Amino acid sequence: MSIFKAYDIRGIYPAEIGERVAYRIGAAFGTLNPGKIAVGCDTRLSSPELKDNFINGVRSTGSEVLDIGIVTTPIVVFAIKHLKCDGGVNITASHNPKEYNGFKLFDENAMPISYESGIGALKAIIEIEDYRKGNGSSSPRAIKEDYINFIMALVGVKIGRRLSVVIDGSNGTAGLYAPEIYRRLGVGVYELNCTPDGNFPGHGPDPSKAENLLDAKCKVKEVGADVGFVYDGDGDRLAVIDADGKAIESRRIFSFLARHLLDEKPGARIVHDALMSGMAIETIKKYGGLAIPCRVGHTYIAQKMMEEAAELGGELSGHYYFKETFFADDAILASLKVVERISQEGKRVSELVKDFPEYLSENIRIAVKESEKFPFIAQLKAELEKEGYVVDCLDGVKVVFEDGWALFRASNTEPKISIAYESKDKAEYNKIKSFVQTIIKKVPQ
Ligand SMILES: [Zn+2]
Repeated sequence: MSIFKAYDIRGIYPAEIGERVAYRIGAAFGTLNPGKIAVGCDTRLSSPELKDNFINGVRSTGSEVLDIGIVTTPIVVFAIKHLKCDGGVNITASHNPKEYNGFKLFDENAMPISYESGIGALKAIIEIEDYRKGNGSSSPRAIKEDYINFIMALVGVKIGRRLSVVIDGSNGTAGLYAPEIYRRLGVGVYELNCTPDGNFPGHGPDPSKAENLLDAKCKVKEVGADVGFVYDGDGDRLAVIDADGKAIESRRIFSFLARHLLDEKPGARIVHDALMSGMAIETIKKYGGLAIPCRVGHTYIAQKMMEEAAELGGELSGHYYFKETFFADDAILASLKVVERISQEGKRVSELVKDFPEYLSENIRIAVKESEKFPFIAQLKAELEKEGYVVDCLDGVKVVFEDGWALFRASNTEPKISIAYESKDKAEYNKIKSFVQTIIKKVPQ
């Protein structure tokens, strides 16, 4: 499988992504996006070596590199804007296992670069070896203080009752920043896995897996913290644990963030992905916001938010985007907004996320032959239309029922079909569920 994916470049180190590949990607990036480039990396064992080679590649094209060190991906976005760069790159494989590494690329507007908007062109430059030539420079540029000051200015936490939080950095990059920000705001911090370690000894860097939340769940109960946060490897995905040690669903967190925003900014525009639950969409409408649907994937969400001048964005996978962070999915800011609200209302977080419209829903991912995932979805669409179903094709195929829906889409990152369905009504939900099961039987495996 190619390392050049829909939203980033990713593969196994060093078999798929090694020194030479990193150098070439750097040279191609410097050719495509010349100028001043902010470059950071995550805590993976292979990141320093890949970063050095990538930087040398960029320099060979005559571009200038600002090396911002070990950072979250949202910090790269901040650095592009703050340091007035012409582009930026984070060397990271996000929440993937430790064998992986990769590159998340951003353009001069700090917008993520997708396959369509640049990764494809970068691949073509590498294939024909048509690089710019030059003699560029590289210098370190510390970004931590600037970022911490920037983020702290975006939240207000009342120091009344002393709050405490558990921060699980998953041995990734958020652990280098989040605890300090909370401490400076006067919040008590219990750190878990906040030491950078590319072996991920605490647990894997993916907070969407239940087993990776166990440490934080136990710690919150043990110390009686108000809330717990688990960040992914590069700080753009968040899981939230309530004071009873239970994980709060992402659709509830997004509903909460939407209501929190709309209280301050009535009428705000909010982008959500195609998988998002009616719980959040109904909440946005109820509190006077405009809910704008979008394709799944961070490149699409950020772009849509910029086009629509949206204040907030959210994906069911636990990514929350803010206009304030230049449309980056900054998990540290998302967690701070939760604490901001707890401190304003003096209520438990479980109280703050309970009053949203309830929907029955399920999300599943089914293995599929890689070569057949997109043809399967195209064929399914044609069949369902022929059978007279109401079909929405924003992303994959969404079948709209009287009181619910079912969505089938080919994953852009894995050989999987992603399926979501939901309804408010138990009988309708069961009807949709059996409809989904008949389609699952047809998936080519
Ligand atoms: Zn990530």
